[in-house]
Amino acid sequence: MSQSRPHRVVVIGGGIGGLAAAAALHLSGRQVTVLERARSLEPVGAAISLSPNALRALDVLGVGDRIRDLAAWQGAGGLRTPGGRWLARTDAAAAARRFGGPLVLLHRATLVDTLAGLLPPGTVRTDAPAQLTDPGDAHRPARVSTPDGELEADLVVAADGIRSATRRTLFPAHPGLVHSGFTTWRIVVPDPGVPFASHETWGTGRIWGTHPLKDGQVYAYAAAVTPAGRRTADERAEPVRLFGRWHDPIPAVLAAVGPEDVLRHDVHHLAAPLPAFHHGRVALLGDAAHPMPPTVGQGGNQAVEDAVVLAHHAGDLAAYTAARLPRTSDITRRALRVARVNLLNSRAAAAVRDVLMVALSRIRPDALLRGFDGIADWRPEQPPYAAGRTGATTGEHT
Ligand SMILES: Cc1cc2nc3c(=O)[nH]c(=O)nc-3n(C[C@H](O)[C@H](O)[C@H](O)COP(=O)(O)OP(=O)(O)OC[C@H]3O[C@@H](n4cnc5c(N)ncnc54)[C@H](O)[C@@H]3O)c2cc1C
Repeated sequence: MSQSRPHRVVVIGGGIGGLAAAAALHLSGRQVTVLERARSLEPVGAAISLSPNALRALDVLGVGDRIRDLAAWQGAGGLRTPGGRWLARTDAAAAARRFGGPLVLLHRATLVDTLAGLLPPGTVRTDAPAQLTDPGDAHRPARVSTPDGELEADLVVAADGIRSATRRTLFPAHPGLVHSGFTTWRIVVPDPGVPFASHETWGTGRIWGTHPLKDGQVYAYAAAVTPAGRRTADERAEPVRLFGRWHDPIPAVLAAVGPEDVLRHDVHHLAAPLPAFHHGRVALLGDAAHPMPPTVGQGGNQAVEDAVVLAHHAGDLAAYTAARLPRTSDITRRALRVARVNLLNSRAAAAVRDVLMVALSRIRPDALLRGFDGIADWRPEQPPYAAGRTGATTGEHT
């Protein structure tokens, strides 16, 4: 459906995707309201890695350099076995050369605060659960119900996350989420005082990563092949059992963490891509549109890409779908393939994988970086928004 210059925009969800979309749409001259059901914008999930593709999208919003400054560069380190042997090394400068900029790691709260800071006061309403009541069409606006009444919108951005109610409303016949076969744990702790280089460590059916943040803290994540739905009173107990005897600094990181500091998530993705990322005057974005396993670290990166592409194509949502659906479906498939390799759950198969990784990294020292080809080299179509610029000048397809 083609719309002419949507002006009133309602964004459902104030996560990374919703805030990035709100910022892009505001900077392109729209009147934006963000409805977030939580009491605050405090993000779920410790830290986030951003690759040059999303950083270039943030450049469009004018905050790419600020984020690069606040983040730690990633890429110097490599891949290890649970005993500590290096399987392959990576080089941060080589990554930056290959993709035209660094891969970085920062606190999620820093990213959320930076995006929210681009919005005029009053744009974000918290404690505001919202529901799409009418997707609208070319002749009538969309409608969204809120605790304070109903809002009309020329464009609704559904950024309501992996369990998106808007997705179910728009595509009721779609089979929805499936469990990806594994569970993740995330931790941020003060530097445990054991010297280490950034690493991801592959065991049998388990992985662990430790990476320094810029402010003296350390981000660690882990994943293990586990059925969905398991919970323990002390969420630290399972990672300690699974990873407590792995190489340094893993035991020290685990010793530094309190049970309440461990964030646990069963991972899900869509059983099949959606038929479209839009319907009527509604555009789906981020995890609402394309939830993917975190094994290539792209869920949030793709949400930020979505945001600037959506602002560019806000007048032609079919063009938004055409630009985003094939790319995010491909990255989801790549993330699933990576999960199958790094979470191989047979000791013999994992041993063969490790031998192959060593051989491959000798023949092709850039083997790990090559996994990001076609992802991290993405560039947005539009130039950065200038402050005060309006939608009339942003190349909308109307
Ligand atoms: C272990 C793990 C590690 C990850 N690491 C990375 C990484 O390093 N890099 C990366 O790019 N990605 C990573 N991801 C993925 C990333 O976290 C997500 O893709 C990203 O947060 C999606 O952002 P979003 O804004 O689409 O959704 P969300 O962050 O889920 O935001 C949705 C928001 O909508 C709100 N909401 C929901 N329903 C309503 C409603 N009815 N009304 C109002 N508000 C509503 C929610 O409260 C929430 O605030 C990781 C994921 C996991 C599980």
